[in-house]
Amino acid sequence: MEIRIERATTLKEKPKAGEALGFGKYYTDHMFVMDWDRGQGWHDARIVPFGPIPMDPASMVLHYAQETFEGLKAYRTKDDRILLFRPEMNARRFANSNRRLCMPEVAEEDFVEAVTQLVACEKDWVPAEEGTSLYIRPFMFATEAAVGVHPASSYKFVIILSPVGAYYPEGVNPVKIYVEDEYVRATPGGTGFTKCGGNYAASIAAQVKAEEMGFTQVLWLDGVHRKYVEEVGTMNVMFMIDNEIYTAPCDGTVLPGVTRDSIIHILKSWGYKVNEMHLAIDDLMKAGHDKTLQEAFGTGTAAVISPIGELRYKEDEVTINDFKTGELTQKLYDTLTGIQWGDIEDTFGWTR
Ligand code: PMP
Repeated sequence: MEIRIERATTLKEKPKAGEALGFGKYYTDHMFVMDWDRGQGWHDARIVPFGPIPMDPASMVLHYAQETFEGLKAYRTKDDRILLFRPEMNARRFANSNRRLCMPEVAEEDFVEAVTQLVACEKDWVPAEEGTSLYIRPFMFATEAAVGVHPASSYKFVIILSPVGAYYPEGVNPVKIYVEDEYVRATPGGTGFTKCGGNYAASIAAQVKAEEMGFTQVLWLDGVHRKYVEEVGTMNVMFMIDNEIYTAPCDGTVLPGVTRDSIIHILKSWGYKVNEMHLAIDDLMKAGHDKTLQEAFGTGTAAVISPIGELRYKEDEVTINDFKTGELTQKLYDTLTGIQWGDIEDTFGWTR
């Protein structure tokens, strides 16, 4: 893929070393843009100055939410190399999302090439402080100006970059989770396995409700029986019960996380039995009460691993591992972040 580069004439001031970067507060000088038109396919791949994208008020994305996105990171190693972590997994998931929403697919090699070239162009923006990284946000949306419901005839694929701070500046800490029994995130036949903006729009009400009640996030139950555990907030979720690991299968309603897949590989390499199965919330709470539930954590690109210290389901409440980060949880966090930042040898061949 030929990518034209138009450099910004004035560069932004970069955040100072040690400054709190937050998440999505700063954006780099350039972005990647590529257009798709029916009949023509993808064309005009370019890296251009970061800035507003003019759009017609009738653009279909604004009305029918034909929008998909991805999230991954670039990491600066101690010897100043810049690593991507399994970007081809994001490319494949992006293609699956786009197929489900009747949007055009970006070829895996073009997705990875666009990410790689943009990050290379902005390499000075990859922060160096411990735990920091460059968040990469590829996204696609329907640009056709038409207010009838149909697959749009034109789209934009854009990638923006944001230097982000350490998720746990004070070390990994457990959170309180509310088991959501009113709202659902996904149903069979729906879009749960995709990263489409609509999924997230629909999830905000539950998040607000949980926060108002003093919880950090929700644990989503399945949309049919409201019985089986699926995800926690915008993370996959895993439980260690009686020395075995349990996580929901990726059979349509769960987002297939890159972190989830990596953690499963690491666990299996350590000899753990990983059960990808539908786990009923009643059984989970019971395991919490009889203390066979040893550890619980969410997995995702942003935090890598987020330990769960407390679960509340209706009137029932359990504390997990005395609200302390579990030994396995910490070891998984150290191992995966070690590979991502290049401190541990990547025996899986995941980093690029
Ligand atoms: N589930 C949902 C709903 C998510 O939004 C994310 C974040 N992309 C994940 C799981 C974790 O996926 P990953 O490990 O690829 O970041």
